[in-house]
Amino acid sequence: LLGQTIGACFDEVADAHAERLALIVRHQAIRWSWGELKDRVDALAAGLLALGLAPGDRVGVWAPNCAEWTVTQFATAKVGLILVNINPAYRLTEAEYALNKVGCKALVTAVAHKTSAYLAMLRALAPELATTPPGQLAAARLPDLRLVITLGEDAHAGCLPFAQALAAGGEADRARLMEIGPTLQFDDAINVQFTSGTTGFPKGATLSHHNILNNGYFVGEAIGLQPGEKLCIPVPLYHCFGMVMGNLACLTHAATMVYPSEGFDPLAALEAVEAERCDGLFGVPTMFIAELSHPEFARFDLTSLRTGIMAGSPCPIEVMRQVIDRMHMPQVTIAYGMTETSPVSFQSGVDDALDVRVSTVGRIQPHLEVKIVDAEGRITPRGEPGELCTRGYSVMLGYWDDDAKTRESIDPAGWMHTGDLATLDADGNCNIVGRIKDMVIRGGENVYPREIEEFLYRHPAIQDVQVIGVPDARYGEELCAWIVLKPGQPLEAEAVRDFCRGQIAHYKIPRHIRFVEAFPTTVTGKVQKFAMREAMIAELD
Ligand code: ATP
Ligand code: MG
Repeated sequence: LLGQTIGACFDEVADAHAERLALIVRHQAIRWSWGELKDRVDALAAGLLALGLAPGDRVGVWAPNCAEWTVTQFATAKVGLILVNINPAYRLTEAEYALNKVGCKALVTAVAHKTSAYLAMLRALAPELATTPPGQLAAARLPDLRLVITLGEDAHAGCLPFAQALAAGGEADRARLMEIGPTLQFDDAINVQFTSGTTGFPKGATLSHHNILNNGYFVGEAIGLQPGEKLCIPVPLYHCFGMVMGNLACLTHAATMVYPSEGFDPLAALEAVEAERCDGLFGVPTMFIAELSHPEFARFDLTSLRTGIMAGSPCPIEVMRQVIDRMHMPQVTIAYGMTETSPVSFQSGVDDALDVRVSTVGRIQPHLEVKIVDAEGRITPRGEPGELCTRGYSVMLGYWDDDAKTRESIDPAGWMHTGDLATLDADGNCNIVGRIKDMVIRGGENVYPREIEEFLYRHPAIQDVQVIGVPDARYGEELCAWIVLKPGQPLEAEAVRDFCRGQIAHYKIPRHIRFVEAFPTTVTGKVQKFAMREAMIAELD
């Protein structure tokens, strides 16, 4: 375990690798060495002090992937400011909730991106912005927020342009920066991340330097990341997949962070891998599926790829196989984690047997413990699904300002109850069976949607599939499959059921089948089964 703060680690790496490439942001035409990144990080850190922020204050970031996001991440860490990741897909009331929940004093925000008019939303929330000088906001609906920093150089009423924040610090602030570093403790809170909101309302997990710096370190170790290797990061920075598994794995291994686009774009990701000769590529399963099935996929040279991580939701075996064969990623691994555990707790290693790597999430990370328990808290017999619980350095400090919720998730002995069902094999490899909430009980039989999804993926016309339970008068719940077909490959619902007959138990054959263009997802691309269930309930009513 690294016993450092993020700021101390950053300085050490940036000084030792000053000339090496740290950050490539393709959509901003940025290529910075660690030395160049450090200049900006120190400038912003001093600027934030000059603007009246002090260790422990919360600073929100509300923007799609960009260089400023990362500069802000490291600058806040150096001064002991708590970074609050605001989901770029949030709208007015969600942003209001997040900013107020954590009491953000400053916010770094993009002006607009695609359909997200961030600044316009802020102005709607805080009309006071138009009439107060930068740094003196006192808005009725955002009572804690004082300072709004806008990305870019343009001036906006009441806001400070990012370029000016970089220039705000003087000699005295730089001196204070040097003094503050050593006073920070590695188990201080440094980051509040909201969960994805896959199952409902996002929760703010409070994480320490120790939590996330070490998690990034072990994630990098598992894929054998080397100094100077390039990691393509098309996953959002606001999510731990980007800012911890991406940025902090690169930091702790002096590897290069490569951002292909602001929001996910399969073509931009493929272009980035080819043009930059990336060694690794990250993604949730739906991102890899989108890349593999892109009409221009075949024209890209992806032979520089060595490794990568698929994570975030169930990783279909078939997709893993295609990533290995068609994307040239022999050492791809699967990781399992959750925001509350910094995030990764299981990950396969690049040397694990192929079979282990495509079908399990690997073994527990170093310095963590695992147990699998039944509803009464008893350890289940090997191979029997139960709730996955983990304990160790990566468990969050708690949910921000929500002790009751924290106590529901972390028990007095320090075990994090994940809400996921899993099994462990004799070698300690973990198989994620699904979320407890997604398990379907049909006529008294427990059905794990994951198993049916894996089976249906084998159908040659099926590109992507999700299975849910919907209420049923006779059986309590019935199975429902949403299917995205491969282009030009029509399929009838009855043909899908025929494909299942004789292959899987009759009660696992989906009664309802819908062909759709896409699934409802979070901005990270995670499928929101609760939204599918709501849609089906409305339709079946
Ligand atoms: P919320 O808690 O707000 O509903 P969320 O649980 O999706 O959202 P995250 O913390 O981003 O928010 O995701 C963690 C969850 O993602 C895990 O609890 C698990 O259900 C799922 N998950 C992550 N990695 C994997 C994986 N490799 N295989 C299967 N499921 C995974
Ligand atoms: Mg969760």
